[in-house]
Amino acid sequence: MFSKLFKQGQTVIFSLSFLLIVAIMSWNALLLIERKTRESVRGALQTVLMTTHESMLLWVEHRKNDVLHVASDTEFKRLTKQLLLDSEQDTPFLHSESLRDIRTFLGPILKEHNDRGYSIISPAMINIASQWDVKIGVTNLIYMQRKERIKVVFKGDVTFIPTIRSGVPIKTKSGQFQENLPTFFVVAPIKDDSGQVIAALAFHIDPTQHFSKIVQLGRLGKTGETYIFDKEGIMLTESRFDHHLKLVNLIQADSKGILSIRISDPGENISEGPLLQAPLKDRPLTVMARSALQGFSDYNIEGYRDYRGVKVFGVWLWDQSLGFGVTSEIDEEEALRLFNQTRNLIVAVILATVFLSFILISLLMRFQILSEKRLKTAYNELDFMVQKRTKSLNVAKEKLVTANRQLEVQATTDSLTGLANRRQFDQHLSDEIRRSRREKKALSLLMIDIDCFKNYNDFYGHQAGDHCLKEVALLMKLVNVTNRPGDLIARYGGEEFCFILSGVSKEHAVRFAEQICEQVRSEKIEHKESKIKNCQWITLSIGVTTALNCEGITARRLISHADQALYKAKSNGRDRIFFYEP
Ligand code: GH3
Ligand code: MG
Ligand code: MG
Repeated sequence: MFSKLFKQGQTVIFSLSFLLIVAIMSWNALLLIERKTRESVRGALQTVLMTTHESMLLWVEHRKNDVLHVASDTEFKRLTKQLLLDSEQDTPFLHSESLRDIRTFLGPILKEHNDRGYSIISPAMINIASQWDVKIGVTNLIYMQRKERIKVVFKGDVTFIPTIRSGVPIKTKSGQFQENLPTFFVVAPIKDDSGQVIAALAFHIDPTQHFSKIVQLGRLGKTGETYIFDKEGIMLTESRFDHHLKLVNLIQADSKGILSIRISDPGENISEGPLLQAPLKDRPLTVMARSALQGFSDYNIEGYRDYRGVKVFGVWLWDQSLGFGVTSEIDEEEALRLFNQTRNLIVAVILATVFLSFILISLLMRFQILSEKRLKTAYNELDFMVQKRTKSLNVAKEKLVTANRQLEVQATTDSLTGLANRRQFDQHLSDEIRRSRREKKALSLLMIDIDCFKNYNDFYGHQAGDHCLKEVALLMKLVNVTNRPGDLIARYGGEEFCFILSGVSKEHAVRFAEQICEQVRSEKIEHKESKIKNCQWITLSIGVTTALNCEGITARRLISHADQALYKAKSNGRDRIFFYEP
């Protein structure tokens, strides 16, 4: 019972270990695949980011050339000189011819580039031309916010000036006026013929217009997007998820996400979920924005919440020269979709394998138990049959032993008298002679003969003779009172008997022979034809011989001595004992 449980336990433990190993290996493989997937997503995002960033740099370079081209135009230079001269007059020159000419010159260029505006800055850092009257005659905004940058221009270089928030309300694409709109500037020096910088030409670029087109190229898959943001953490390009943001009132229903979205972490997924409780401006910036605003170019493929609260992977950089950050992000769900499908498939396969294995193991164990039961039943049946067969074999064996014993007895017994036969006598006599020699003990032999038995047979018949033989044998047995193991009475042949007396001296042997004669005589078995005088019953004649230690004595010699003594007894008148004397 215990060993069976142990065996079953072993099977279960072995199977479980196997499944555990498979599960661990699969788990490790999945982890590896997941890491590789995340890395490849990072690679793709980085490529997009780099390409987008490079396009922006090219575009900025292109715009610098544009402005320089305009600033180098001879007609434009002439008009600027005139403007400078007019501006030095005390009278206001808002309606001056030179300003009108400049506006006529720059108007089509502004339209062509779809820019917000322009300004011409005098060396005194005063706006001497702009499409807005309010801006003319006031200190230039760039000078106020980025002194060192504008100084570079007056030293002869073209420069790109990152986000400056305009002081005046500007009309947006939707037709509304909006304050504090972020604006980029490209500023080129206006030089006279001697190469002296006489003023600066600045174009006011709407970042939302130009960069949105560039970053739209960096939209990876269904959720990947690339966007730029200023140092306030405000998104400067169009969001791909305007419809979601409107849904949760993050931006006005009639406006776009641009310039309304602060890249802060809402703390929960608000893309389709409940309306945001706390205003976004009170929330901390996203992991990406915080890192980028500190000037880091980095990536995150572990997942963080973007401005929609959706977990994304992202790569980003902060461009110091452009003064804004660029990032490429993709929803974690989309980035890992293929991996998740693969993982689910593998997990399903493993679970199915485990389930099937358990069924298989339990079936196997059931079969094992069943076959063990059958085997045991068969074994028990066999055992029962073997026991039955053994029993009958034992019975047969016992019968055989009994039969053998009977045979042995028959082989060594005289059938008429029940005494030992001649064969047993011969064997016993040689054994006793050897023993006598070994133990240096005397051995006596008596040869007994019924007197005138022929006459008895003739007179009483053969059957009566047989009966008489049996009676005499019985009487002799009764005399053998010592009954020691070395003693033996045997029928020697016909009406003759022998008595072996082991360890018996001559005197004892003679006395013993006398007892036998007396025993038979006193029984007075009728024998009318006995030739012995005054005797009408059965008598015996006995020849006695004794060997002291049987040294040099053989069975034949001993029998011969007894026989000679018997002969003497017969010839001396019968019914007597005679001791052999050599
Ligand atoms: P003695 O006194 O000299 O011995 O004379 P005896 O007649 O006894 O001796 P003898 O040798 O002449 O005769 C032996 C007889 O014993 C002969 C035989 O008829 C008889 N006899 C031998 N064996 C058997 C037997 O098995 N059954 C019977 N009924 N008689 C036997
Ligand atoms: Mg005889
Ligand atoms: Mg005789």
